[in-house]
Amino acid sequence: MAVSQTVELKCTMTVSIWQANGTQPLQEVDCLVIGAGLIGCSAAYFAAQAGRQVTITDARDLALGASSRNAGFMITGLDTYYHTAVEAYGLDTVRELWALSRTTHDYLWQFIEAGAVQVDRCGSTLLAETPAEARELEQAARALEADGFEVNYHSRDPLERGYYAAIEQPQDAAVQPYQLVQAIFQQSGAALIANNEVYRIGQDSADIVTVWTRQFIFKARHVLLCTNAYSPFIDPYFVGKVIPTRAQCLVTAPLADGPILNTCGYSDYGYMYYRDTFDGRLLIGGGRKQNKWLEGDTSDDRVTDPVQRTLEAYLRDRFPEVEAPVEQRWAGIMGFSVDKLPLVGTLPGKPRVGFAVGFTGHGLAMGVGTAERAVDHLLNGTHPGAVSATRLD
Ligand SMILES: Cc1cc2nc3c(=O)[nH]c(=O)nc-3n(C[C@H](O)[C@H](O)[C@H](O)COP(=O)(O)OP(=O)(O)OC[C@H]3O[C@@H](n4cnc5c(N)ncnc54)[C@H](O)[C@@H]3O)c2cc1C
Repeated sequence: MAVSQTVELKCTMTVSIWQANGTQPLQEVDCLVIGAGLIGCSAAYFAAQAGRQVTITDARDLALGASSRNAGFMITGLDTYYHTAVEAYGLDTVRELWALSRTTHDYLWQFIEAGAVQVDRCGSTLLAETPAEARELEQAARALEADGFEVNYHSRDPLERGYYAAIEQPQDAAVQPYQLVQAIFQQSGAALIANNEVYRIGQDSADIVTVWTRQFIFKARHVLLCTNAYSPFIDPYFVGKVIPTRAQCLVTAPLADGPILNTCGYSDYGYMYYRDTFDGRLLIGGGRKQNKWLEGDTSDDRVTDPVQRTLEAYLRDRFPEVEAPVEQRWAGIMGFSVDKLPLVGTLPGKPRVGFAVGFTGHGLAMGVGTAERAVDHLLNGTHPGAVSATRLD
């Protein structure tokens, strides 16, 4: 019984022999990026900057995975508070990762300014749901300040909603994530082949990779997998390294009196998050901590009642003045890496197949800089630093 339940949850795309039997037309490409999300489009941009002809292919269409389903928080850093990250990974690694996050944001601002992307430079506020989390936030603030970061620690709740403490990060922002990926794609100059599932990858000679997809068989000089949560369904190398994990959101109807937060709110160690939308709704996301049994190890992006009930209860509890009804709910699939850090490398036995995956719910924080390192690693053999997947070998 337990086995069949697990199989049911891990639903994913497959290609039947009737849809594609190996007689699809051949297509020669220079650099093939698999996955047209935030990371795939960023990687395409960097590969094109390096002088490569880039084709992106995706099972769905541009940015229809997590990249257009997220909350749009451009928060600096990992999903772990700074001092805890130092304990887990060491100070040098954490400094490198926070610098990578800043690099990511610098690139995002460049893409935003060159494109038509809604963004609110509202900063972020990390909030404590309990006195214990307040003590953690104070330690995080001190550790960030000691390392030269501009943060404002509050021993009281600046939002006056019953939180215990807060860290404000004024440089953070709230973005329209779907528009962002559209802008990056346009600026990459890459070609896109949508509606095209990849179902097998082989490197049959030293310099050519064959990629079987429903519409074509590609012969590529280099391939970069940017399939985040879906990677374990494409290559067994990722099984146990990237865990597909569902995240859910809701939004209210537009509020009568307009925006009420003016920040990206983030609490309960990142398990809850909330922001205003550009059309004056309140977005609440998270609710996974109470429902982990349901939300882990699945690529099914349907909403579930227990999580939506958790989100709605949070809305009514923390934002009691909001009378607007919930108008829309959605889910997306995050790729949690086993040690919560992004993974960059090449597949065993396939040195021309690179990957940039495992963003652990923080693609807007870490993704673009990581994509740049993945491209540099694949094309030039440059070591990707702290995001190198060799740390898990
Ligand atoms: C509800 C939610 C809220 C989030 N909030 C935030 C946030 O506020 N801030 C933040 O930084 N991050 C957030 N995240 C995480 C963020 O969305 C991801 O880290 C980021 O989008 C990862 O981008 P990606 O391009 O790697 O993955 P994706 O956007 O998921 O792209 C992967 C692509 O691979 C394609 N693919 C899969 N299998 C195949 C195949 N076999 N063949 C071809 N193509 C395939 C998929 O169709 C998909 O388009 C959130 C995620 C969710 C779900």
